[in-house]
Amino acid sequence: MSESYDVVVVGGGLLGCLTAWMAARDGARVLLVDKDQVNQHASGQNAGSLHFQLEYRMVEAGEEAARVAAEAMPLHLDAAAMWARLEDEIGESLGVRQTGGLMVAENADQVGMLEFKAELERSWGLDVRTLDRSELDTVAPYLSRDIVAANLSALEGKADARIAASAVARAAVAAGAAVCARTRLTGARHTPTGWDVTLRETDRTGEVRTRTVRTAAVVIAAGVWTTELGQVFGAGLPTVPLALTMTVTSKVPAFIPHLVQHAGARLSLKQSLDKTVLIGGGWPARLMRDADGAPEFDRKHQLVPRSIAGNARAAVNAVPSLERVPAVRSWVGTTTVAPDQLPLVGAVKGAPGVFVATGGSAFTLGPSFARVLTGLLAGRSPDIDLAPYDPARFTEGSTP
Ligand SMILES: Cc1cc2nc3c(=O)[nH]c(=O)nc-3n(C[C@H](O)[C@H](O)[C@H](O)COP(=O)(O)OP(=O)(O)OC[C@H]3O[C@@H](n4cnc5c(N)ncnc54)[C@H](O)[C@@H]3O)c2cc1C
Repeated sequence: MSESYDVVVVGGGLLGCLTAWMAARDGARVLLVDKDQVNQHASGQNAGSLHFQLEYRMVEAGEEAARVAAEAMPLHLDAAAMWARLEDEIGESLGVRQTGGLMVAENADQVGMLEFKAELERSWGLDVRTLDRSELDTVAPYLSRDIVAANLSALEGKADARIAASAVARAAVAAGAAVCARTRLTGARHTPTGWDVTLRETDRTGEVRTRTVRTAAVVIAAGVWTTELGQVFGAGLPTVPLALTMTVTSKVPAFIPHLVQHAGARLSLKQSLDKTVLIGGGWPARLMRDADGAPEFDRKHQLVPRSIAGNARAAVNAVPSLERVPAVRSWVGTTTVAPDQLPLVGAVKGAPGVFVATGGSAFTLGPSFARVLTGLLAGRSPDIDLAPYDPARFTEGSTP
């Protein structure tokens, strides 16, 4: 076997590309493989929100669930600082703007939730301020008069999901990493020095070539395919797959500088640098499944008209002038969360030399996930307590 690496990174989404780039900068011999193309899946299909406040999905289940979700805050704070310097380090635009994010409230219950949330976030070190209606008139005059208050995090913002991972992949190649698209990791055998992994490459004519590559370590950066990849390495990595709806409008003169989320509804919206408005926030689409109900991630998932309409209504309720802006396209993306809304980050139990990260806002958290993973690869002690994100925490016998 002639081909050998220090690390094989599985997945060419933002996380895999960042990990490959950082590991190559550390001097590791890196191979990144993607069964499709770089940035073809969640990393290129998402809303590009850089959100550091707790999201609606984390607070809708009540205060206890929010307290658990807040344990990801050290990763969020790390990511906020890393996004601020990423374009300089990569040497390309990633469309990053950290011009602030608002979580808006329309009634007393939601305002109460915002107050609880802000206190919780501040206890973890996130600077969050509550704005009343008169402050919103100045800060965000585009919001509906029905919005009575909002939490503001100055760190929040957006990046351009259409370009970010590909730009990072170019930086990884420049740092010495090899990147192979249309190359699927299909098997793995543990060896005394690491792993022999089987790669199935499909060329442009459809011809398939299989080869085995030797590596000391493997990083699973495979998004919704994480559980499947875990099985290849004999490990249980439970994730909950979601198919979600996104909609983009036509261009309108810039008027929304913030990331806008809602305290009582599924909504995230922002105006991209190209002046379109990107609307999402977790409205479900139809995840394709086989006859036994198992998800089939390689199939095309389906939009649900009710979700597109509901998402548009939520957007217009928050920003009424959007009513006059045509939506031009909706699409489905797939992503994972863990049952407790915390990510899985760390070493894979029972598979020495294999590391994983996934779950939740892994676009926002990509830089901090990648920093943690490359630290583990290099044998550095993590400077963030990884215990709450232990990938084995749902496995029988593990103490949470
Ligand atoms: C509609 C939508 C909106 C979202 N909005 C936001 C947001 O605004 N902000 C935010 O922070 N997060 C958001 N997310 C979540 C975010 O997009 C994902 O968490 C993140 O992009 C995951 O990145 P990744 O690199 O881990 O995975 P992916 O981008 O999914 O990449 C995984 C890659 O692994 C490859 N792969 C899988 N199996 C194999 C194999 N066996 N061999 C080789 N390659 C393999 C796949 O082909 C894929 O390219 C959203 C998600 C969706 C679906």
